[in-house]
Amino acid sequence: MAPTVAVLGAGYAGLAAFAELRQHLRPDEAELVLVNKDPYHTFVTEIHTIAGNGEPVSHVRIPLHEVVRPPARLVVAPVERLRADDSSVEVTLRGAGRLHCEAAVLAVGYEPEYYGLPGLREHSYALDSLASARRVRERLRGLAGAAEPPRVIVAGGGITGVELVTEIADSYPRRFRLALVEGGPEIMPGFEPDLVRTAHAALRDKRVAVHTGARITAARAGQLVLEGGADLRFDLLIWAGGIRGNPLVGESGLPCSRRGQAKADPTLRSPAAAALFLAGDCSAPIDAETGRPVPNTAQAAILEGHHAAGNLLRQLNGQELQPFAAHLRGILISLGRHEGVGKLGPATVYGGPALALKHAVEAHHAYEVGGLRELVARVLPARDRAAPSRPAPAESRSTPLSRPLAGDRAR
Ligand SMILES: Cc1cc2nc3c(=O)[nH]c(=O)nc-3n(C[C@H](O)[C@H](O)[C@H](O)COP(=O)(O)OP(=O)(O)OC[C@H]3O[C@@H](n4cnc5c(N)ncnc54)[C@H](O)[C@@H]3O)c2cc1C
Repeated sequence: MAPTVAVLGAGYAGLAAFAELRQHLRPDEAELVLVNKDPYHTFVTEIHTIAGNGEPVSHVRIPLHEVVRPPARLVVAPVERLRADDSSVEVTLRGAGRLHCEAAVLAVGYEPEYYGLPGLREHSYALDSLASARRVRERLRGLAGAAEPPRVIVAGGGITGVELVTEIADSYPRRFRLALVEGGPEIMPGFEPDLVRTAHAALRDKRVAVHTGARITAARAGQLVLEGGADLRFDLLIWAGGIRGNPLVGESGLPCSRRGQAKADPTLRSPAAAALFLAGDCSAPIDAETGRPVPNTAQAAILEGHHAAGNLLRQLNGQELQPFAAHLRGILISLGRHEGVGKLGPATVYGGPALALKHAVEAHHAYEVGGLRELVARVLPARDRAAPSRPAPAESRSTPLSRPLAGDRAR
């Protein structure tokens, strides 16, 4: 009987791994299964647009049944438990039995990190999923009608916080008193000074008060407690201050970092289980070329997904595994609805062109995941997208190894 190969999680990393495996595995070689807790893939990099200006939800998700065609199999169920060793992975699915596989890629993403700060989880809204983005949207809508502009604090001055607070500012001009709170000395830590300066200028234009070096020690109802006593009052607190690995990682007994991210060897395999490969924000790989941690971004997750799947295939074929080096192409950040900033190689891009490039990258991802239909859907206005999809023809999977595997040196 053909072995089973599974991808657990259908985010950026999981879908990249799935695409790599579908491309290279013949049906007689292995059965390919994609498992996800929801029936759709979410463009997490765009959920702040749902929270802020109320883009239609269809704009940021793709039904997985449009992505997974027979003979590959889609299982929609949360992975509840995972046991992995050097020859197999046993997966327990909530309400859907068990799955035994000979090898798997774990790509179940992240959850917010609250660093044990008292009251923070209870008194804040997170922004880590489509459901959480909808909750923020509803709360903002509820507050927007108040006579006195309510106080909205976005805590965490990384990309997520900056993209969200500028989106809210443009969606609700002067309706809120907006603040961005960052514990470190500067917003967007790790980014080049010209990007940070541009972000500051946009925040100033949009009347967002920026508090840097503001270390949060706790949150209470309506009050963010800061070290040194300069507390801030809020009507809505949104937490965008950090991530940790999906709790499934720790619960499965995999070796993990103190942020709950699975440790990976240089080939993106679990050091504790040779049958399990790791990709995306649920893990914490070290770049084999730079020796530095790979950032937790969608771009890195996609590269890791391809590479982990490529190494899984090499392992099945008895070939030598390749170390992972993240050759990142740059970064594009939205600064509200009309401008952005970014770095593409050595070049810095600003304003409308930066935002247009970001949309182009997102459209490219939609095309890679969902094909031409999803690309068109992103260009058409929402009302034109309601047409039901025609069932797609079953796709042949008997693809020969015509394309090199992700991570092959020739690539
Ligand atoms: C507002 C915002 C803006 C961002 N902007 C950018 C940006 O501009 N550029 C950039 O590169 N990055 C950006 N990021 C970061 C980026 O979104 C993440 O790094 C990326 O989503 C990580 O991909 P992933 O595949 O590891 O996880 P995810 O994309 O979160 O996917 C995880 C998948 O696993 C599934 N899953 C979870 N638990 C289970 C379970 N138990 N069983 C089965 N399935 C499960 C989920 O349903 C999901 O489909 C942004 C993030 C946010 C929140």
